[in-house]
Amino acid sequence: MAGRHDDRRPARGWRAVTWRVQAACRTANAELWFPLEGSAEEAVAKRVCSGCPVREACLDDALAAGIDFGVWGGLTGAERRQLRRQDTVVVPA
Ligand code: SF4
Repeated sequence: MAGRHDDRRPARGWRAVTWRVQAACRTANAELWFPLEGSAEEAVAKRVCSGCPVREACLDDALAAGIDFGVWGGLTGAERRQLRRQDTVVVPA
């Protein structure tokens, strides 16, 4: 079974290649990163992410790509949507 960010999978762009090879989840069961919200599996995935050396790059790419499912960069899809809303700059008319 392939890991979460298995570097044997094709990657898009140089940045994806560089951070994926250091991913803490590279050899872990990929299904853990697509858990039910609030489940024990979600807590396990977030714990692994918390010690991952490429967490920031992973989160940046998930935010840039608008990925709304699974745990990326230690955040769930709902948490990333909330973060994107907070990041929105409102320009007065
Ligand atoms: S932050 Fe989490 S999902 Fe992202 S590469 Fe690291 S362990 Fe994997």
